[in-house]
Amino acid sequence: MSWIRGWRRWPNRRVSPEDASDETDPTARARERMVREQIENRGVRDPEVLAAMRRVPRHLFVDSAWAYDDRALPLSRGQTISQPFVVALMTQAARPPRGWHGARVLEIGTGSGYQAAVLAELAAAVVSVERDPELSAQAARNLAAAGYGGVVTVVGDGTQGWPASAPYDAILVTAAGPSIPAPLREQLNPDGGRMVIPIGDREGQWLTLVERHGDEWHERSLEPVVFVPLIGTHGYGG
Ligand code: SAH
Repeated sequence: MSWIRGWRRWPNRRVSPEDASDETDPTARARERMVREQIENRGVRDPEVLAAMRRVPRHLFVDSAWAYDDRALPLSRGQTISQPFVVALMTQAARPPRGWHGARVLEIGTGSGYQAAVLAELAAAVVSVERDPELSAQAARNLAAAGYGGVVTVVGDGTQGWPASAPYDAILVTAAGPSIPAPLREQLNPDGGRMVIPIGDREGQWLTLVERHGDEWHERSLEPVVFVPLIGTHGYGG
């Protein structure tokens, strides 16, 4: 009676890919909807970024029932994790010229570790700098629990960059500065390295893309955003 077993295994209803993923992991459905409605529909189309954001379990990085909602959420210690769309937009814009695989990437502002996990999912070698030791330790635990233990988390003033692993094919700054920190410019790979950083005052900023070719840096404003301040020598004073 193999046809009966077959029928049992393939119940007679239409199963869309998103329902199918729901059968093994209920959070996968929330991620699928997040990617489709909040990210793809608003114009982020890079298939690698979309795939990475479908896979990284955001709920392991933010202790909230709204982990997959279209909003920024509070972390501990007065900090904020960006809304999923902004993470996707920054990641798409920072794509290194030779792709993510094996790229050397620096993140400033580890926060929960979520953005670092998205970069690690893209198979980049990630160093992430956080000024707050408690947040850094929590992020390292989140990353390990989610299977991204390869991300190097360090404590320091990220406005100085992290010279030990420079140059970087991509730099993502997830806190807002008054201007582009000179050390970060210098640590970008001269061969097409890309940095994405919110630049402006404390109330509002422009997400800015910086692209380095030799000793020339090209800047372009992408999108108005609001980030928590980048506090440090080349940021806002503490
Ligand atoms: N990318 C994070 C969210 C970052 S919130 C995530 O995915 O969850 C911004 C973070 O930048 C905060 O944790 C804040 O402590 C940190 N920060 C601010 N100034 C910094 C500096 N100079 N160096 C490193 N981290 C800094």
